[in-house]
Amino acid sequence: MKLQEYAAKELLVRAGLPVPPWSVADTPAEARSQAAAYLAAGADRVVIKAQVLVGGRGKAGGVKLAATADEAEAVAGAILGMDIKGITVRRVLVAPAADIVREYYLAAVLDRGARRIRIMGSAEGGVEIEQVAEEDPDAIVSLLAHPHLGLLDHQARQVAFAMGLGDRWKEAVPVIRGVFAAAIANDADLVEINPLAIVRSVEPDGTVSESIQALDAKVTLDDSALFRHPDLEALRDLSEEDPVDVEARGLGLSFIRLEGSIGCMVNGAGLAMATMDLVKRAGGEPANFLDIGGGAKADKVAAAMRLILSDASVQVILVNIFGGIARGDEVARGLLEARSQQTRDVPMVVRIVGTNADLAARILDESGVGIEAATSLDAAVERAVELARAAA
Ligand code: GDP
Ligand code: MN
Repeated sequence: MKLQEYAAKELLVRAGLPVPPWSVADTPAEARSQAAAYLAAGADRVVIKAQVLVGGRGKAGGVKLAATADEAEAVAGAILGMDIKGITVRRVLVAPAADIVREYYLAAVLDRGARRIRIMGSAEGGVEIEQVAEEDPDAIVSLLAHPHLGLLDHQARQVAFAMGLGDRWKEAVPVIRGVFAAAIANDADLVEINPLAIVRSVEPDGTVSESIQALDAKVTLDDSALFRHPDLEALRDLSEEDPVDVEARGLGLSFIRLEGSIGCMVNGAGLAMATMDLVKRAGGEPANFLDIGGGAKADKVAAAMRLILSDASVQVILVNIFGGIARGDEVARGLLEARSQQTRDVPMVVRIVGTNADLAARILDESGVGIEAATSLDAAVERAVELARAAA
């Protein structure tokens, strides 16, 4: 689950990181009054930023400065409703603009291969890090935190020095440790600050000071760990998620859309994986991964079927149920219910074994709706692939 910048910054603040104040506005008028307050409090300018879950908002025109409340309203008006990489901007972040001396990159990333958190830093901030990685990989420092002890002090100092923040390492080290802490505390796959900046500020008496500030924040949470953070679930931005994903999650189904044409309905993640492997081996391409879970009732089966059919590239549906807690007759009834609501004529090949498989076969047979029952898993897969070929 990706968080919008304004929500991600909240998690940075909770981890003790320095973030300039910010607010969110849904209308130009709101942006105007927020900007007026920052300007009245001494800000030279404000920055208005599109809140969309894609990178490169700056380049796309979604990050703009404004020097007056009038200008802030106009800028917010231009950004709200703007299309950035296919997403319509519905909300902007408003903040006092930072006077940037230099931009850096800092992130904590889950390295699945190493099974540890990787800290990455660079003095080449502000730009896309992928570009830096390609053109000047030596400009990125990268190291793995200890699996049990976390990010060690000397590691944080090493990152600070390699990033060119050696002369202010006492200020940089807590920031680097904070990024790591934010990743751990929230079970995040990614906590990225780009840019982390040295910012200049002038006090009313004229003294100039510099400090490190997080000016952008990108956080991706591990969906599988969200149950440990019920408060973070509220930060989800449903308007930017695939409606199919939202529906699947609501139904408690694990559903992942893939490229192929064979819709798969399976109970159990392992069996779902095995079914996809068999489809591939038989020369077919699965259209999805779907685990309807244990003990699925008829209504859940019918809902899962609707999800599969909402994908226009599905040409055939392969149902593979190993009845244990899930009862075959329940699944069969769900399939018939789904069939009765189905608006698109898609052939269905069904293999149900285990609890109440006989009853399931009889229910499907007596329905007379032409659902094909297969005798074995291999036969079911072969038949599904054959039907998909015929439909292609
Ligand atoms: P992104 O393009 O989606 O990554 O959005 P960012 O928040 O990183 O903003 C892009 C760029 O806008 C930054 O690299 C900065 O150069 C600039 N920018 C962002 N916030 C400020 C600010 O407060 N003051 C100034 N002067 N520039 C900013
Ligand atoms: Mn950025």
